[in-house]
Amino acid sequence: MALGGFANRIAHVNLTAGTVEYRGIPEDWARKYIGARGLGVRYMLENGPRVDPLSPDNLLCFMNGPLTGTEANMSGRMAIVTKSPLTGTVTDSHHGGWSAARLRWAGFDGILVKGKASAPVYLYVHDDIVEIRDASEVWGKGVHETVRFFRERYGEKDLSVIAIGQAGENLVRFACWVNEDDRASGRGGTGCVGGSKLLKAIVIKAPKKMPKAANLEAWKPAHKRALSAIMDERNITSPRKGGLSVYGTNVLMNITSTMGALPTKNSTLTSFGPGAEKISGEYVKEHILVDDPTCHACPVACKKEVEIKEGPWKGLRMESLEYEPAWSLGANCGNDDVNAVAKLIDLCNDYGMDAIETGHPISIYMEATERGYTNGDGGLVWGDTMGMVELVRKIAFREGIGNVMANGADATAKYFGHPELAMTVKGQGVPAYDPRGLKGMGIAYATSNRGACHLRAYTPAAELGVTPLGALKVDPLAWKGKGELTKIFQDLHAFSDSLDLCKFSAFAEGAEEYAAQYSAMVGVECTAEDVLKIGERIYNLERYYNNLAGFGPGSDYLPARFTQEPSTMPGSQGHVCELDDMLAEYYAARGWENGVVPESKLRELGILD
Ligand code: SF4
Repeated sequence: MALGGFANRIAHVNLTAGTVEYRGIPEDWARKYIGARGLGVRYMLENGPRVDPLSPDNLLCFMNGPLTGTEANMSGRMAIVTKSPLTGTVTDSHHGGWSAARLRWAGFDGILVKGKASAPVYLYVHDDIVEIRDASEVWGKGVHETVRFFRERYGEKDLSVIAIGQAGENLVRFACWVNEDDRASGRGGTGCVGGSKLLKAIVIKAPKKMPKAANLEAWKPAHKRALSAIMDERNITSPRKGGLSVYGTNVLMNITSTMGALPTKNSTLTSFGPGAEKISGEYVKEHILVDDPTCHACPVACKKEVEIKEGPWKGLRMESLEYEPAWSLGANCGNDDVNAVAKLIDLCNDYGMDAIETGHPISIYMEATERGYTNGDGGLVWGDTMGMVELVRKIAFREGIGNVMANGADATAKYFGHPELAMTVKGQGVPAYDPRGLKGMGIAYATSNRGACHLRAYTPAAELGVTPLGALKVDPLAWKGKGELTKIFQDLHAFSDSLDLCKFSAFAEGAEEYAAQYSAMVGVECTAEDVLKIGERIYNLERYYNNLAGFGPGSDYLPARFTQEPSTMPGSQGHVCELDDMLAEYYAARGWENGVVPESKLRELGILD
């Protein structure tokens, strides 16, 4: 392949046969789908969309992009792409830290894993080689102990460990991969697929070896321009000044609660009132913050490491007290104890479970308890933190009621005889934005290709006015224009996820910055219009995969609670989410027929020849 930036080396691992083959990337695919998310989905399509997610035939892709591990800011992201055992869609889930950069420095653009090992294994990646090694000593261990084990075996220097915990081993449908102890590729159950293959960890040992740009002369100004945008004090990314840098993502907790856009107690309310303050980024900074870790090549340092100072979990240090998990295991469950929130998130990381998803079956159980639907199953009241800690363990080990909850929110709500209690789209739980108070999130959740998700189209950037330099600000309570807005964000993010840059780069950079960096690194012409066109192609490729996997007309929807039960809280009082109006606008902008991509669109975008 003639493109710069890439190692042009993908490891194809077959765990059934115990073999590893090394192949280049088809140049046509790299040009059309970029890398990471886009390229991973292209490999998934090649593997067949009808595959059973938990069969050896499913493919599990660990992917980099052409900017990964380079000098580009926020370029330490890895995409894990597979067919989801939670949703049945194609899914990609990204984590930060250093593993993605190290994978690139070890000489790889990606590792594709197929088959099933006869006994637990891990992959040891170094110096252009991937080795399949015995993992029996760490099978049954949590993520933290697994990471410690490999650090002792291989030394901490230049080492990254991506691992599953007991939840992945026990095939919890929303189990995830966790990188370096706390950085989860959370959504979609990618860790469950790892467990089904008896793959415990990817261990990468690689010293820094940054790839050089194909066009060095163009790279310098492109890099400088992107960096200035991140540093600009008008943007929330501004180091030690902007809200994202100072408080982390949890800067949102008070904001969304005040505007009636914080789903609370399984979305029966849209604000957590004074409880929001007690689990907010501001409160964390004042009481338990001890450090601001970062990822490869990122001056923002939005990670917030905390230490619990009192109570039953005194002394616990963890670095992922972020907005989404703090919401899911906090406001969503009526829990305003910040120490308990930290403990619960850390448990999810150790067991290897998506902390966003874990809060869903728990809050359903709490609502079922309140309404008297538990059918003799005991019950759990809102905010019972000790009960939640025990329940998280039961889910990870599939014990008792935890065995039902391990199959996800839909299965849990059905078990209690009330499927309407599941706040899901395509089987995945909604994240921390109530679409009655932030309407763009309603259409974004409904049309997300991986089930309910805030990261496919981060419309709150425009609804809260945190786009680069505050250039775009729209009314959060208006629905008009949100269908088109969602398409633009979906296409833009599909491109940046394929580079693979951190999603938060979009608070400072736009299509022009992405185009300039991609163009200089890879050595091909690319404009801002090309960025959106390529993003559109990737988004349609995913939708095509899902259509072939069985998601036909009518599969874009929202739970009725959001469209039929008006908000009762200040900020969004009286509002529902006008999904049907936004869907009509969105499908017109996409050129889709009720959620299905027509063949003419696939040909227009070059997905079909
Ligand atoms: S903004 Fe935060 S998550 Fe993104 S690369 Fe920087 S430290 Fe990592």
